[in-house]
Amino acid sequence: MALITYLTTIKFGFGEIAGIEADLAGLGVRKPLIIADKGVVAAGLIAGVQGQSATLQAAPVFDATPTNPTEEAVEAALALYRQHGCDGLVAIGGGSPIDLAKGVALLASHDGPLESYAAILGGIPKITASVVPVIAVPTTSGTGSEVGRAALITLKDGRKLGFISPHLIPRLAICDPELTLGLPAWLTAATGMDAVTHCIETYLSPRENPPAEAIALDGLKRAIAFIEHAVKDGSDREARKEMMMAALQGGMTFQKGLGAVHALSHPLGGLKEVSLHHGTLNAVLLPAVLRFNEPEAKTKYAEIRRTLGLAPETDLAAWIAGLVNRLGMPASLSQMGLPHAVIPAIAEAAVKDHSSATNPRAASAGDYAAMLEASF
Ligand SMILES: [Zn+2]
Repeated sequence: MALITYLTTIKFGFGEIAGIEADLAGLGVRKPLIIADKGVVAAGLIAGVQGQSATLQAAPVFDATPTNPTEEAVEAALALYRQHGCDGLVAIGGGSPIDLAKGVALLASHDGPLESYAAILGGIPKITASVVPVIAVPTTSGTGSEVGRAALITLKDGRKLGFISPHLIPRLAICDPELTLGLPAWLTAATGMDAVTHCIETYLSPRENPPAEAIALDGLKRAIAFIEHAVKDGSDREARKEMMMAALQGGMTFQKGLGAVHALSHPLGGLKEVSLHHGTLNAVLLPAVLRFNEPEAKTKYAEIRRTLGLAPETDLAAWIAGLVNRLGMPASLSQMGLPHAVIPAIAEAAVKDHSSATNPRAASAGDYAAMLEASF
């Protein structure tokens, strides 16, 4: 077990969830709203966590979080929060419930509309310390949202925007690998590849932050060493623990900024005509983006190869594509069901995404369209 204070307080280890009643009291939360989705409810995880705490046993549960959180869902959860006179949030699940909880925590303490707080629309300084407390309890190993300052929410007009502020970081993250033991293989692979992508993109980001780079490389090393074990045997406790740490480390380095993979997967995740899983998208897009970035990131690619114990001549993009294949994941966007006609609009949206600015190589809409075609 470990108690870490870096960005926020993190309780990490098997069995840590047992202390959640005291953790709520410590934050002064008496009437929490639980934010979840149908999947975590069906998996019995909500009942399991509620069983650890009388306060949570009595708490209302919002379980209608969509795969990609929406403004409508934030408003519905906020109505439940107000109806029950809540004073804090406990998000249990993957990145979607945690991001949704951040949106609710923001609007529970700040006047709407949600759009006015979007990073790209100048909203960052409008978010103050009055954001209500969130405890994040991840049940997947990938998102890093439990320690991240961003929430990705799709507005009513279809734009998937980032809401970013240090005040949106959950006040406490309880990372208990026990809660990931039942995660199905496909979701272990998809969320795990999200963690891999976070570590790679934050490491490659040109913002200067050596401590964050060291964390990103350590997280990448753990994820690559254990992702196949975790997918093959979900009950492998060591693999589950290492994947949860890798995901946490990916989230700890978000402050460096992500890159072109996320600039593309954000608008793709906002599509209404097809629901695409964030981690799966990243896995499919990563090889083409690595190939595009290579001319600007040769030294860092060499460091990644050294960290992973790969031969100096290894083609990283092809190596990642091989890993994605071994994990049994889709090999292309077309296999995921993406309609080809959306490529120009997604390429335009990627240029405007907040993650595009920290890609190591400047990418135009034409470059993004080429990366989408290469991944199609
Ligand atoms: Zn991600």
